[in-house]
Amino acid sequence: MDPLEHASIPVLLYLALSREPTLAGVLVLVIGATFPDLDAFTREHRSYFHSLLLAIPAFVVAYLWGNPYTLLFSLGWLSHLFLDFFTGVIPPVYPLARKGWGIEITARGGPSGFGISIRTIEHYPDPRHDYELDVGGSVTLLVLTLAALLLRLH
Ligand SMILES: [Zn+2]
Repeated sequence: MDPLEHASIPVLLYLALSREPTLAGVLVLVIGATFPDLDAFTREHRSYFHSLLLAIPAFVVAYLWGNPYTLLFSLGWLSHLFLDFFTGVIPPVYPLARKGWGIEITARGGPSGFGISIRTIEHYPDPRHDYELDVGGSVTLLVLTLAALLLRLH
């Protein structure tokens, strides 16, 4: 999943569910939702910042602290892991175990019929490599998000 999708999806949820969304809240949420891919600059992509061993305690601390911006950052982080879980794998207990899990959902249709298959993926390690992002399809999602932002934050 590309950064535009990682940023747009939680922002749309925030704008839909928050009674009084703020621009500062949106910015903190976007940072929380996109920073885990800084893992791409480490030895392995989807490592420390994609691990629940770090994300869950951060969420608990943020929740107990009660600061709305810290909580938004943490929720953005968790949304990143949730979305990656459906577009690949996340390593839930990295670095204790270098294994990742995810769910792949495939819909098929054609003359022979229709079907949906759901399967779990177990995969890792994913060594660091150069990335090329095609964000063309995500631009429409970004435009929709910016329109919702303008409508909710005026
Ligand atoms: Zn990621």
